[in-house]
Amino acid sequence: MTTQSPSLKTMLEGLIGTLSVSSVTPAFDHSNEPLVTLLADWLESAGFRAEILPVPGHPGKSNLLGTLGSGPGGLVLSGHTDTVPFDAPLWTHDPLKLTEADGRYYGLGTSDMKSFFALALEAARAFRASDLKCPLMILATADEESAMHGARALVAAGRPLGRHALIGEPTNLRPVRLHKGVMGELVRLVGRSGHASDPSLGNNALDGMHEVMSVILDWRAELQQAHRHPAFPVPYPTVNLGHIHGGDNPNRICGECELHLDLRVLPGMDPAELRAALAERVAGVGQRRGLQWSVEPLFAPIPPAETPATAAIVRACESLTGHAAEAVSFGTEMPFLNQLGMDTLILGPGDIAQAHQPDEFLALDRIPPTLELLRALIRRFCVEGEAAG
Ligand SMILES: [Zn+2]
Repeated sequence: MTTQSPSLKTMLEGLIGTLSVSSVTPAFDHSNEPLVTLLADWLESAGFRAEILPVPGHPGKSNLLGTLGSGPGGLVLSGHTDTVPFDAPLWTHDPLKLTEADGRYYGLGTSDMKSFFALALEAARAFRASDLKCPLMILATADEESAMHGARALVAAGRPLGRHALIGEPTNLRPVRLHKGVMGELVRLVGRSGHASDPSLGNNALDGMHEVMSVILDWRAELQQAHRHPAFPVPYPTVNLGHIHGGDNPNRICGECELHLDLRVLPGMDPAELRAALAERVAGVGQRRGLQWSVEPLFAPIPPAETPATAAIVRACESLTGHAAEAVSFGTEMPFLNQLGMDTLILGPGDIAQAHQPDEFLALDRIPPTLELLRALIRRFCVEGEAAG
């Protein structure tokens, strides 16, 4: 016998009340283990097997996998345990306490996206392991908001989890099957400083960066000619020159210059190949001008992702919501789950406009349709055990 599962509201209160901020800035970063422990207890009381999977190289961070039923295939309901940091003085409500007001639940992570775990557990309550032909999994990842260490560790472990996956990121309950990839790249040129009065005393890195920038703008035009995807509001890859710093004084030859780029790439474009193509162009300028050069990532890229329009999870969510699957401009864990052999769709009750904002909320009227949708998916992919395709 299992112990009584907590109510939906009790779970929401527990999730919002348990701090799980992640950040690339160590001063803001917290362990997600208190949240994982809480979820693991609830999963077990709902009849799931709960496995806590520590993220190698990141102490205090764990993924969590709960499984109901057994066998190959099945449905994964996935979310991230972490939130972004918050600015408490800008909130009207306490960000770390679930507050019900104006037909909404306020709190950090209500929309993006800790509430999804409570909703998934509440939806699963209607099912027993013996009802399921294929397993139902609830996956909770670490560090999505910072560097996606949790999802990257799942890919590195390579363990197949299920055939179909739904990530409950905020999409206003509309299905999303593709997003762009995100890269941040740093270009550095090193020359030699010297007095401004005689150019032969040095080798100007800013002059070199001027040439690198024009080479990058030509490359951008080529990429935009060669790659198009009509599903996106901005239907081509973008390359933004976002930050430059070089030199110190007008009367000195600039010895060193650094440029930061943001690239948003379409499904089918490979971040590693793009970095190599950028490096080749920078190398050309460096060699011509006798400058040292380097190209490095500012962060590990988020690959682009696309799940086929014909995937069973896409078809099912389109027919259950009445909306055709769309593209979004924010990165998610979808490419990593797809790499593990799942057809992954993004669909959740929150609104992206509320995410990462003071007074983040989840509208209460989003809850019943989410539960209905999740139960329909569990019936279809776990009880009936529908195969892919
Ligand atoms: Zn999110």
